[in-house]
Amino acid sequence: MSESGTSILIIYTGGTIGMINDPETGSLAPFDFNHILHQVPELNKFGFNLTTITFEEVVDSSNVHPEIWIHLAELIEKNYEQYDGFVILHGTDTMSYSASALSFLLENLGKPVIFTGSQLPIGTLRTDGKENFISAIEIAAARKNQQPLVPEVCIFFENKLYRGTRTTKHNADYFDAFRSYNYPELAKAGINITYNYSAIHYPVIKRELKVYHKLDPNVAILKLFPGITPEVVEAITNMKNLKGIILESFGSGNAPTHEWFIEKIRQAVQRGVVVLNVTQCSAGSVDMGVYETSLGLMEAGVLSGKDITTEAAVTKLMFLLGQHYNKEEIKEYLSKSLRGEINA
Ligand code: ASP
Repeated sequence: MSESGTSILIIYTGGTIGMINDPETGSLAPFDFNHILHQVPELNKFGFNLTTITFEEVVDSSNVHPEIWIHLAELIEKNYEQYDGFVILHGTDTMSYSASALSFLLENLGKPVIFTGSQLPIGTLRTDGKENFISAIEIAAARKNQQPLVPEVCIFFENKLYRGTRTTKHNADYFDAFRSYNYPELAKAGINITYNYSAIHYPVIKRELKVYHKLDPNVAILKLFPGITPEVVEAITNMKNLKGIILESFGSGNAPTHEWFIEKIRQAVQRGVVVLNVTQCSAGSVDMGVYETSLGLMEAGVLSGKDITTEAAVTKLMFLLGQHYNKEEIKEYLSKSLRGEINA
């Protein structure tokens, strides 16, 4: 259970949770975060010391970019010692990318960093925002034997706590917006919050938090579809400054066997572009070599993304490329779990 004297830092980045209807346009637009605390007076009952930081320019999460992730990581670095946990209020649209990016940027994390948001603004009658916000704070504050219960970057949404590197936004209409297809939930909120201790990562040796400050955005997603033309593949593989491709393939990592296709991928690999094979399926894993349709990729030097999500793959590649590791190091790190993003 949580203890009093607990300090939580709440960072509001934007998103529906803090939006109102703009009377001029009729569209939802972000507004001043202070309003949120007025909307949730229940928070005072925790007895926690809650501090809030609002982004100078709050954003709809469709406008989130790597610099924002670095800014968030630096905010956590700066405030790490003063707070027991962190809650990041964020739009749902790209929350899975942001939670993945933060996971990679924060190494040896020993405190909870909980992302949440909502599908309906917090001021509306049927909002899911209050519940999400209150439970996220409770989880960020939860400790046992003086230790945080969830020392990970997570997403809390609609009664479930997920590992940050494992989620996907799967529903635009309903409150249960997220899924973690390849990894169990870390906790469920019912009458009580029940933690799935065996799924939570507890560091064996406690090390000092290490914050990374660089991401390389020169990556692209190449999503395959039947009938994909050489022009589409070429447009992506020949992009200026391109350093990494997430190849969203079929099933367990399969792709067309046409010579032109394999050749374009091979040429990209030879030019030094890292190509990571990720499945288009929501659940399951890439397993190259099972079918003939993935053998060519393997031979061309494509790497297996295993059961990684596209969101985690994009941010992991940006992270690895940002640290200027050499090709062999990148290959090794992609095959390993750095923040619980793959079953390695
Ligand atoms: N467009 C909003 C955003 O991602 C949607 C949301 O918050 O749920 O910022």
